[in-house]
Amino acid sequence: MGEQLTVAIIEDEPAIAENLIHVLEADGYSVQWFTTAGEGLTYLKQYSAALLVLDVGLPDGNGFELCKAIRDFSDLPIIFLTARNDEIDRVVGLEIGADDYVTKPFSPREMLARIKLRIKSRAVTVDASPTQVSYNDELIADNYDYFIKGQAVGLTAVEFKILNKLISISANVLSREQLMLAADMAPEASYERNIDTHIKAIRNKLKPFGRSECIQTKRGFGYFYSSDCNNTQG
Ligand code: CA
Repeated sequence: MGEQLTVAIIEDEPAIAENLIHVLEADGYSVQWFTTAGEGLTYLKQYSAALLVLDVGLPDGNGFELCKAIRDFSDLPIIFLTARNDEIDRVVGLEIGADDYVTKPFSPREMLARIKLRIKSRAVTVDASPTQVSYNDELIADNYDYFIKGQAVGLTAVEFKILNKLISISANVLSREQLMLAADMAPEASYERNIDTHIKAIRNKLKPFGRSECIQTKRGFGYFYSSDCNNTQG
C-alpha cells in the first residue's frame, strides 16, 4: 500500500460532491471537500493534494478565477466541473490551465477513471528525469495531448478529444456523431465527414509510434480504439 492520496473538491452542491466523495473514498482516496472558493484556496495554499475537482459556479466567485489563482503557486491537476452545453466554459477552462473538464451531470465512475488517469499521467511527468526514463509504451494523456514513452503525439484540441473519447471507451464503436459531440463540434455546423479527416490526421500522427492501426474503422458505424495494436514498433 502506498500513501493515501488526497483529492480536493470545491463544489457547492452537496449531492454532486457526495457522489464523488463516495466513489473516491471507496477507491482508497482521502477527500477534502470545500463549498466555497475561499475555503478551497486557503486549503490548497497550505496543503498539497494529488488533484483538484473544481466547480465553475461557486457562491463566492467562479472557478476560472480560482484556477488562475491556484496556477500562481501550484501545478496540481485540475478537472473542471462545467454546466451542460456550456462550450465556452470548457474552452476557457482548458486555456487557463485546467487539465480536463467534465460536464454535469456526470457518471461518478467515469469521473473516477479520469481522476486516476490525471493523477497517473502527472506522476509520470514528475518522475521523468532526463537519464532515467521508465515510460512504458502506454498512451498517456497530459496537457491536452497524448504521450508515448514521453514523446508527444502532437494532437490538436479536436484530435485530442476524439482520440480521448475513443480510448476512454476502448473497443466500443463510436459513431461519427458521437465523436463530434465528444470533440465539442456543433452537429449543425459540421459535416460528419469532418470526423474522417480528423481520424486520418490522428492516424498519421500515431504512425511514427507504430499506432496508426489502433484506430479501427467499423464500416457503416464509425470508429473504435483497439489497444491491441502496438507491435509495429518497440
Ligand atoms: Ca455550483
